[in-house]
Amino acid sequence: MIIFGTKGYLHQLAILTLVCGSCGNPSAHALRKRVTKFTLFFVPLFPVSTKYGTQCTFCGAEQKLTQQQSDQLLAQSSGAAGAAGVPGLGGSGQPGPYGQQGQQGPYGQQGPYGQQGQQPGGNPYQR
Ligand SMILES: [Zn+2]
Repeated sequence: MIIFGTKGYLHQLAILTLVCGSCGNPSAHALRKRVTKFTLFFVPLFPVSTKYGTQCTFCGAEQKLTQQQSDQLLAQSSGAAGAAGVPGLGGSGQPGPYGQQGQQGPYGQQGPYGQQGQQPGGNPYQR
């Protein structure tokens, strides 16, 4: 009888200060790597999937990243440690991995969130 399955591992790679796409706060984000390994007789043999993501420590929102994005974030966080203070806030001229992927929407404009929730004063359906 062969017993096999998978087992997940969660690694925290770094703590990064990023502007959150959900709450809009420049808060600490945990950069995480989740590795799922194939196990045989409960012994992990090889990874079957590796996923990266960040989680906002302010609101708890998670954002998936590619490995490339994760590498960039790591490189920025370690490389720019003593250079320009806080990495990832857009002060260094690099738009970062978020901007390069064409996902600028939720980060750049806070409009859609504010406009949908609250209607200014007057009710358009009022007669
Ligand atoms: Zn947040």
